[in-house]
Amino acid sequence: MNCPYCGYYDSKVTDSRGVNDGIRRRRQCLNCGSRFTTYEQLQPASLFVIKKDERREEFNRNKLLTGIHKACEKRPLPTGTVDKLADDIEAELYHQGKAEIPSTLIGDMVMERLKNLDYIAYIRFASVYREFTDITALKREIDTLVTDEVGESSPTAQLSLIPAEELEVVAKRHQRSRK
Ligand SMILES: [Zn+2]
Repeated sequence: MNCPYCGYYDSKVTDSRGVNDGIRRRRQCLNCGSRFTTYEQLQPASLFVIKKDERREEFNRNKLLTGIHKACEKRPLPTGTVDKLADDIEAELYHQGKAEIPSTLIGDMVMERLKNLDYIAYIRFASVYREFTDITALKREIDTLVTDEVGESSPTAQLSLIPAEELEVVAKRHQRSRK
């Protein structure tokens, strides 16, 4: 880390302490004497996703983000919700400290969170991820939601708010994707 004031390459550490998952160091430039602070973050080892066909693919945050974004499109969610969700999942994945994670596990994590956030986003995501083969399977999943709902405080969207068109869109998308 070069000195931010004069660009000199060397500095001495005057203090260091652990913060969260990293180390904070107070430094003093050996050239101009300016003091500055650096944070060293532990770099997680690369993480691989085991796909359904057993192929391995390096974990890609953008891919995860895109999937969630699509599901949450035009939903009344506060700005940053999607990013935070992806961040949470990514952090949890790295936290598990495994080199490989099945893609199904990641999908389940997304479903779990969307379920508490927004039913329509959840159904959309589930319809792609679970690959519902027909509208009956989708309906079954929705019925589960209704059952879960009893006696619980409801998330932002009520199930009853899922418009018939939305279900049709999901169903049609499936007819298309099966071709
Ligand atoms: Zn300096």
